[in-house]
Amino acid sequence: MAGIYFHIPYCRSKCHYCDFYESNNIKTVNQLVNSEIEELTLRKNYLDNQLIETIYFGGGTPSILSIAQLNDLLGEVMNNYTVSDDCEITLEANPEDLTFDYLKSLSSTKINRLSIGIQSFNDDTLLFLGRKHGTQKLEETIKNAQNFGFFNISLDLIYGIPGMSFDNYINSVKSVLNLNVQHISAYALTIEKNTYFYKLLKTNRLTEVADDVVITHFNSTIDLLAENGYVHYEVSSFAIEGYRSRHNSSYWNDKHYLGIGPSAHSYNGVSRQWNVNSTKNYCLKLSNGQNYYEVEVLTEIDKYNEYVLLKLRTVEGLSKSYISNYFNHTINSYFLDEVFKLSNEQYIINSGDNLMLTKKGILISDFIIRKLFFV
Ligand code: SF4
Repeated sequence: MAGIYFHIPYCRSKCHYCDFYESNNIKTVNQLVNSEIEELTLRKNYLDNQLIETIYFGGGTPSILSIAQLNDLLGEVMNNYTVSDDCEITLEANPEDLTFDYLKSLSSTKINRLSIGIQSFNDDTLLFLGRKHGTQKLEETIKNAQNFGFFNISLDLIYGIPGMSFDNYINSVKSVLNLNVQHISAYALTIEKNTYFYKLLKTNRLTEVADDVVITHFNSTIDLLAENGYVHYEVSSFAIEGYRSRHNSSYWNDKHYLGIGPSAHSYNGVSRQWNVNSTKNYCLKLSNGQNYYEVEVLTEIDKYNEYVLLKLRTVEGLSKSYISNYFNHTINSYFLDEVFKLSNEQYIINSGDNLMLTKKGILISDFIIRKLFFV
């Protein structure tokens, strides 16, 4: 059982906090779609004919694609791969693209899950973040999507935003809860290099939010979502039971996936592979029959580090017996020593065979994961 990921690296404009690779040269979208179709056929044996259970259009802004382009890509998957009848097919979308007509047409495709980047339900905050949508039409957009039969919707939220008061943040979360969606992803704002916010920070025109404020926002998010029936199943992910993201869960559960498009990553259990990140080079190399990717065969240490990285983020945590069965004695002893220290500091719960992050640990999950890495 496996997944396919399509990377669509286009955005209509760049948000102030975003350092993702992206292009706004929308004229080349058609060329990219043709190249992705070519890659899909070239690599049809990569997943060894495993059943495709999830398909994910991520970006960038995949909702930039026309319905015809989405259908062309999905049609090529159906022609070359064995796809499960209840395949989860997600489209990441920006609210401003989800017009009544687009949603109506989208409902006739095989896409059955929407992941919508709303980020906030506060107009001042959206403006500050450089988002192109306001809150006025958000409610209508989500209702339209639901009326057109999308009953598996995820919304993204950002917390720890400079200038956003606690009350405004909580009101924003409450407005999102009123939309009755099945899944919410909540991320702390981090200021990365190559962003507009980084430039502001370096010229003293922006102050980062203090850690204790970020922690308060995060803890309140956890509590509020739990009160409303959302299970916190991964560090940043909350879902009504039965609506966890199957595609993202497959990354955390070591399932294989094929990444199509510029900078997309693939994994087949033995190696990782990633495509060139420039859209122009990706298209050019594919059309010239040149190599457009790099491959790294995973060592035992890589596999251990990946296991820790992916599993410790989940509510189920990682399995001590899996580590002792699949990794050598040196790695296993290092792991147990670190676990001992981290559980004494109450960052992880050591329960039976499982190790999970405590609430205190979740707040510094990246640090804990790095502590457990074998280098
Ligand atoms: S946040 Fe999303 S829409 Fe904004 S620039 Fe980044 S990828 Fe594009």
